[in-house]
Amino acid sequence: MSQSAYKADRPAPSPAAMTPMMAQYFEIKGINPGFLLFYRMGDFYELFFEDAEIASRALGITLTRRGKHQDEDIPMCGVPVHAAQDYLRKLIALGHRVAVCEQTEDPAEARKRGSKSVVRREVVRLVTPGTLTEDDLLPARASNFLAALAMLRHGEADFALAWADISTGELFVADLPAEALADELARLEPAELLVSANTLERLGETQGGAQPWLSGATILDAAAFDSEAGAERLRATFAPGALDPTAFSRVARSALGALVGYVAETQKQAGIALRTPQSQRTDAHMSIDAATRASLELLTTNRGEARGALLHGIDMTVTAPGARLFAARLAAPLVSAAAIEKRLEIVARVCADTTLAARLRTHLKAAPDISRALTRIELERGGPRDLAAIGKGIDAAIALSGVLSSLDSPPEGLAALAEGLGQAPTDLAGLLGSALSAELPLLSRDGGFVAEGFDPELDTQRALGRETRTVVAGLQADLCTRTTIKSLRIKHNNVLGFFIEVPAAHGPRLLEPDMEGEFIHRQTMANAMRFTTGELADLEGRIARAHQTALEIEAAIFARLREAVLANTARLRALADAMAELDVHAALATLASEQGYARPTITEALDFAIEGGRHPVVEQTLVRQARSFVANDCDLSGPLDSQETGGRLWLVTGPNMGGKSTFLRQNALIAIMAQMGSFVPARAARIGVVDRVFSRVGASDDIAQGRSTFMVEMVETAAILNRATSRSLVILDEIGRGTATFDGLSIAWACVETLHETTRCRGLFATHYHELTALGGMLDRVSNHTMKVREWEGEVVFLHEVVAGVADRSYGIQVARLAGLPAPVIDRARAVLDLLEARGQADPQSVLADLPLFARASAPPPARSAPQPRDNRLRDMVSGVRPDDMTPREALEWIYGLKKAADADDHR
Ligand code: ATP
Repeated sequence: MSQSAYKADRPAPSPAAMTPMMAQYFEIKGINPGFLLFYRMGDFYELFFEDAEIASRALGITLTRRGKHQDEDIPMCGVPVHAAQDYLRKLIALGHRVAVCEQTEDPAEARKRGSKSVVRREVVRLVTPGTLTEDDLLPARASNFLAALAMLRHGEADFALAWADISTGELFVADLPAEALADELARLEPAELLVSANTLERLGETQGGAQPWLSGATILDAAAFDSEAGAERLRATFAPGALDPTAFSRVARSALGALVGYVAETQKQAGIALRTPQSQRTDAHMSIDAATRASLELLTTNRGEARGALLHGIDMTVTAPGARLFAARLAAPLVSAAAIEKRLEIVARVCADTTLAARLRTHLKAAPDISRALTRIELERGGPRDLAAIGKGIDAAIALSGVLSSLDSPPEGLAALAEGLGQAPTDLAGLLGSALSAELPLLSRDGGFVAEGFDPELDTQRALGRETRTVVAGLQADLCTRTTIKSLRIKHNNVLGFFIEVPAAHGPRLLEPDMEGEFIHRQTMANAMRFTTGELADLEGRIARAHQTALEIEAAIFARLREAVLANTARLRALADAMAELDVHAALATLASEQGYARPTITEALDFAIEGGRHPVVEQTLVRQARSFVANDCDLSGPLDSQETGGRLWLVTGPNMGGKSTFLRQNALIAIMAQMGSFVPARAARIGVVDRVFSRVGASDDIAQGRSTFMVEMVETAAILNRATSRSLVILDEIGRGTATFDGLSIAWACVETLHETTRCRGLFATHYHELTALGGMLDRVSNHTMKVREWEGEVVFLHEVVAGVADRSYGIQVARLAGLPAPVIDRARAVLDLLEARGQADPQSVLADLPLFARASAPPPARSAPQPRDNRLRDMVSGVRPDDMTPREALEWIYGLKKAADADDHR
């Protein structure tokens, strides 16, 4: 792929009449359009022209000027090389791409070509959001995918998506029908997506205009997606015999080729550290579209925060690779009952042994992120600490294998993990353990990382360095005696190296004839004179040589250790995978024990029977507030012949704040958790594999996409009705609210009928349209359920209990009162509601005609700052209570009622 494959952004200034350095700058800039150029000059990366303006704004660094170009000052800013990672991270996070241009020859070499010649420079790496490998630039507990989307050029739009996390070397590919595209991208959330302009255009036409996942895509030349060139690239990249490109579809070869080509292009000489591609089938996991992921707040909340989302609530992994695998499994629950059971079996086994999870987690905590360390070592970006990480990782694997092999009859999956961990290359761990010191520098070039005793020659050179220093001290003492200058010192600096320093007054003494020319004058300072001697120069040479030789020996040892690590790449990758998987199982077992979760039973039928289900996140929040969560049953299992007839639909009515949304979501979350292989927050659960989960909450604007509240709701509802199958679980929370009452009711009505008659899925439908409950009597698999409430002195008390039946009303006005709507508004609303209910909703005009006008009917509102007269309700509530006659449950409800009444008073 040529550099010109990248989209050009802006024209470079004309290269007329410029210095050789500027000419070099423009040449490099010209072949890297679209990238901010980090141009290495000594200890800084400098940016010029528009790049400098962009970077100084983005990074908050000073914009200066340097020289002139076409009579204009050249804007410039710079970042120190040692702090470049921080700046890179900020720029990448802001969506910029950076070309890192290094000096590739010694300035002394350049000078040999003439005083005007410029140091040779080359772009050594293109840094883009999808091609990061450094720990400082990457989130430790999340994957960072680079994806390439290819489209068949002729015929129906069939796609393939290839994706890789180049920090760990994982590489996958999947053939996709057009309708699965958005779901897959929502699942993977690639940091960078590669497409060709043709594909982009076609998608714009076929996918209904701008898609959020297409904005910001990196556009490559169509040639980058050529399937034949792709096959060649795959052959050239992977070891012969490791991969047969023809095993992949043509469109998959095209996606893989573009991805591998882009990695090569951005990593330059560092090469490609990718594993052979694995094919994934999209029908191997539950499909969850972007709207459902957002509505269920799986990985982040709607505010984009981790805290409050399901992942944050249930992820108890202790290693970064474990956390990445946990998130991937949550994002892609399985659909094969057998595969799910296999995972559950492992969790159950770990749960059953009360100390096993803790023992495993102790060793896992000591295991570093060997996947990423290994990639850096492969890409020649690794340092001594990465080598040490590999060693520690192997040690942890050996310890884990010891724990697992002591288990009696472990389940199949656990036995396989034990076997995998048993393959740990112990000799490599031994080598690394004996080679590396306890304290390690970041970079190998600084030396000092090889342990004493590992290499005799290195020890000799180091000793020489140390001894020579002792010799220097001896020489100083000798010179002091011979010259009778007690204040004579041997010192060292970077310019002169070792030198002899005496106070200025003693200087001439060293040049007297009796000194026989031993002292050679180097420098005269204000208060001191500096000299050297033949002996000192000789000593200095020996010290410098010893240091240099030691560095060379260490570099050779580093290269040897690197080779030893790379010779074990496949085994190390397998160990890393096994430890990540073990971490996930141990985390799920710990979660299940700590939170009291139950093992679900997974079936192939249309079962969905949850006993005592809880919402995993709401429950944790309530527990933190010392409140308890009310568990609820849910049974959507189809009748015995359910494969023919379909699952059940529950219509859930109830007051606002009654807990409908919580109940709906908890059931979807239970299905997702069960199918990822987790125990679930319930007393018992029997779940027939769900192929797709859909969850929609009525009414949320998508102004950025130019779609109104109601439009968004209908687009999402259409997606459900078109895509849900009889194996799906559909959750609709107040669909049809964003339009006129009768329009909304009619749409909701038709949706329930369609889900029951045509889709025949299992579903939960929460609604405030009480009229809909009539369907409960008309459609045999639809039943009505409601959130139980109590009324107490005109206040509503939420019991959060789901019972069979229909809510008599929504208690919206009571909830509005609790929320602090002003009393006159509440009174007026009550009056309107009473009349509307008495006469029916058909003719609101006539209702309003009979009501006194608001202004006249209400007393003038009290001034905001005036003290509110408190009524005696709270006192009445307390004096009216008979504690001895109450059950504990009633007492608890009463306390809630009291709290709400007090809160409502505060709001008045
Ligand atoms: P609305 O109709 O106004 O959207 P809703 O009926 O959907 O309301 P939720 O949002 O589900 O109500 O719940 C409101 C609050 O009630 C929750 O934030 C939670 O604190 C509490 N709650 C819900 N369900 C339960 C439960 N089962 N046990 C205890 N508290 C609950």
